[in-house]
Amino acid sequence: MPDLDRYHRQILLPGIGEAGQRRLMGAHALVVGCGALGTMIIDALARAGVGRLRLVDRDIVELTNLQRQVLFDEADVAEGIPKAEAARAKVARVNSQVVVEAHVDDFNATNADRFAEGVDLVLDGLDNFETRYLVNDLAVARGLPYLYGGAVGTTGMSMPILPHPRHRRGPGPGPGAIAWTAEQSTPCLRCVFPEAPPPGSSPTCDTAGVLGPAVAMIAAHQVTQALKLLTGHLDLIDRSLHSIDVWSNQTHSFDVGEARRTSECPCCVNGVFEYLEGGAGSSTTTLCGRNAVQIAPADGHTLDLADMAARLAAHGTFTHNRYLLRGTFTTDRGRDGEPLELTLFANGRAIIKGTTEPQVARSLYAKYVGV
Ligand SMILES: [Zn+2]
Repeated sequence: MPDLDRYHRQILLPGIGEAGQRRLMGAHALVVGCGALGTMIIDALARAGVGRLRLVDRDIVELTNLQRQVLFDEADVAEGIPKAEAARAKVARVNSQVVVEAHVDDFNATNADRFAEGVDLVLDGLDNFETRYLVNDLAVARGLPYLYGGAVGTTGMSMPILPHPRHRRGPGPGPGAIAWTAEQSTPCLRCVFPEAPPPGSSPTCDTAGVLGPAVAMIAAHQVTQALKLLTGHLDLIDRSLHSIDVWSNQTHSFDVGEARRTSECPCCVNGVFEYLEGGAGSSTTTLCGRNAVQIAPADGHTLDLADMAARLAAHGTFTHNRYLLRGTFTTDRGRDGEPLELTLFANGRAIIKGTTEPQVARSLYAKYVGV
């Protein structure tokens, strides 16, 4: 029997009680992105006793993350631990009753469906709109609640999305899943934000900075809505776009009901899932604001990182652990002479820093990783 004592203060709440707590313990949440939003979400869900967490993140912990990414510490930075793994290890120490799956991977159209299997809802810990539209497609196609959230600078926004069921397809969520009617559905992310801002045109955390408490308020809003959904309080969901600037003390609740009535959304009205269906083959992505390019092969490989490190030794300085290899080339430079840094994950995915040009990154990858 799982231990209920640790949840005593939560069970005391009339909206939760023992029955609600048991529902939380039987729930399964997908958290996409383990940055500032993601780690605050994961921490809160694990402490609240949400029984299963599936975490997906492609990055490793860096020193500049520690200002706000609450599950990480200096040892994670020193050891170069991937964020999803570091989060899993920390949650195991916070609440050993929670089952955590950590996926060190790029969340993209080739694997999104697989990551959604069996989950009750999706929480957004992302830093870019393109991947959010993919999550939105996934939520509409599979009938999953999607707790959108985003924060940059001193501002943030969040909105719960209960997609209209008209284009639901595929297996959908598992047993005990949250059910709602067409009348109870909300606009989707693309009804409210029809187009993603072009890359480079909007501030990112890397260029504009970000205040930890702004993120915390957004994460708290997302988690609160998730806890209401998972305990059966669909009627109490905040059905608005919630926006806050903690520095200038402004909060707004935008009524999105009109967006639902008038939407000509390609996704939830017309059933075109262009982000979900867009991906096949390997992908090469310039990582906005980070002077880096990511290469994600279509099919996962399992690389022998020790062997790879030995092969690369003549070309620069490289170290590896069980998750990844990283280092700087002395033999290869970017077009402007900048040294190129490689981070290579065990599944073949690579981040090449020191260039924003996909062809430079692809040729380096072909030369040394050769997949
Ligand atoms: Zn829509």
